[in-house]
Amino acid sequence: MKNDFGIVTNIQQFAANDGPGIRTTVFLKGCLLNCKWCHNPEGVRHFPEVFHFWPNCINCGNCAAACPTDAMTEIKNPPTYPDQKGWKGKLGSKIIQINKEKCINCFQCVDACDFDALVVSGKFMTVDEVITEVEKDIPFYKESGGGLTLSGGEPTAQPEFALALFKAAKEKGINTALDTSGFQSWSLLEKILDYTDYVLYDLKHLDRNQHIAFTGVPNDLILENLKKIVLREDVTTYIRLPLLPGVNDSEENIRATGAFIQSLGLKTVYLLPAHPFAGQSYRLVGIDYPFPIGESYPEEKATVAKTILESYGLDVKMWIAWVEDNISDKSPLKEPAVLPTTGT
Ligand code: SF4
Ligand code: SF4
Repeated sequence: MKNDFGIVTNIQQFAANDGPGIRTTVFLKGCLLNCKWCHNPEGVRHFPEVFHFWPNCINCGNCAAACPTDAMTEIKNPPTYPDQKGWKGKLGSKIIQINKEKCINCFQCVDACDFDALVVSGKFMTVDEVITEVEKDIPFYKESGGGLTLSGGEPTAQPEFALALFKAAKEKGINTALDTSGFQSWSLLEKILDYTDYVLYDLKHLDRNQHIAFTGVPNDLILENLKKIVLREDVTTYIRLPLLPGVNDSEENIRATGAFIQSLGLKTVYLLPAHPFAGQSYRLVGIDYPFPIGESYPEEKATVAKTILESYGLDVKMWIAWVEDNISDKSPLKEPAVLPTTGT
């Protein structure tokens, strides 16, 4: 069947921030935007790929020897970061990095590494395989009102797979939530919406040029699709607003966003201040993160944004990721098997 397979980055059980109740969030690989702050950079490309989980690396060189395209580059004196407490001893004065230009994703390096320091992100799964995982938590959904959330990447970038997953979930009596940027043709989106209970809609910037600058695409389609979604009485829509320093947190943009949401008759907004760990994944992926790593978004500024949005009659819920100390103990990079996935 054409839509029976898809590429899944991760399946996260007991997700508390991806829609109502306790949910299972399935992250689909591939995105149609290229947000500078993306919390899931491993989800952007549309194919399985290898990442270097460098906290586990001992620089033995076995991976470089196994690589048929000479894609392993050695970096001397790698930079250190405030969230690397406990890692520095292992890292030493040099580290290998994967040159993505040369890598053909053959995964021979993964087999050559005895230390779980190379991780494949993205796995082909069937609809049945995903739903089997999701239905394990049906008792929790019943207790809490939770269900299945599709996130990414951008879940609608695999439209047939997303549709098939939601159809299968509905057949099992599981409610469905779509975490989307909305950057998709309406004809594809509305087919998925026919099997969607909740939409978590990301609004990144109201200014068209700024939206292009920070995400790579204009926001016209996104805003137009949202206007259409809110007209559907079978779907409940929540807005998710990532708060990024110097990107979209000006008073002008927050007011424009509040006024736009109010004009649609929507009530609930989830405010997501930049996560202090968001940049960690970038080092695994091997690309630069343009924001400070390990620094929390200032609580006072987030509170100001919340107050402005509330002045438009909105019910603003804050997803707080402020962590003051002991960062390494809370690092999502402690476990190599699953790359960190959260946020928008
Ligand atoms: S990634 Fe694995 S195989 Fe490669 S140098 Fe590090 S420990 Fe050795
Ligand atoms: S996946 Fe293949 S090409 Fe890429 S770094 Fe590993 S061995 Fe080299």
